Amino acid sequence: MKKFGKTRPRSSFHESSKFLKIWKKNKFPKKNDFSGWEKQILKKLRDSGISIETKFRNFPLNVENEKFEYVPDFLMKGFEYKGREVLVEAHEKISEEDVKKYRKFRSVFGSTYYLIMIVTDGELRMWNEYDQGVQGFFNEIWAVGDIEFLTEHLRKMKKDYEEKINSLPQNALCPKCGKKAAGYKEIVKLFGYRGKIVQSFCRKCRSK
Ligand SMILES: [Zn+2]
Repeated sequence: MKKFGKTRPRSSFHESSKFLKIWKKNKFPKKNDFSGWEKQILKKLRDSGISIETKFRNFPLNVENEKFEYVPDFLMKGFEYKGREVLVEAHEKISEEDVKKYRKFRSVFGSTYYLIMIVTDGELRMWNEYDQGVQGFFNEIWAVGDIEFLTEHLRKMKKDYEEKINSLPQNALCPKCGKKAAGYKEIVKLFGYRGKIVQSFCRKCRSK
């Protein structure tokens, strides 16, 4: 007879009521709540020189009248891709429930986050089949066996991002109100770039 382990496959989704209760007791987010499989992936990503924050925040999601909190596994630090922050989610076992939740996450937060999934070599095909249809639930998918290529890909994203940032002016001063900004992120937020130059007036003055 086949025996099943007692532990359910770890999911990054949590029922809101339970999640918030536990969080109130300061027990969550647990940064080390990863399976051995996921820990190996995290180590490989970090060993390649990419800086990673784990379980950095929760995203409330409403799926079929049930409330969930999504706590992404890994946030890539120090770079963005296509104007979005890059999330990497290691998913050892597929479930249709989780697919629904990822879809929901993409539909709500997809313009802010670029989602990369890592799955087992054996499940890659199944994930790609789930991805057909109305709305994809990830931006990229990689089999764990190709993780060396993935880390290379992420490093390239980081390099391209840094090159782009370094080619842009890093200081801004609004001639109208005197507002200052330093660094790419602050300039995007307060001024915005037009091609390779900073907008001359800050966003606030432009909107007046
Ligand atoms: Zn101004």
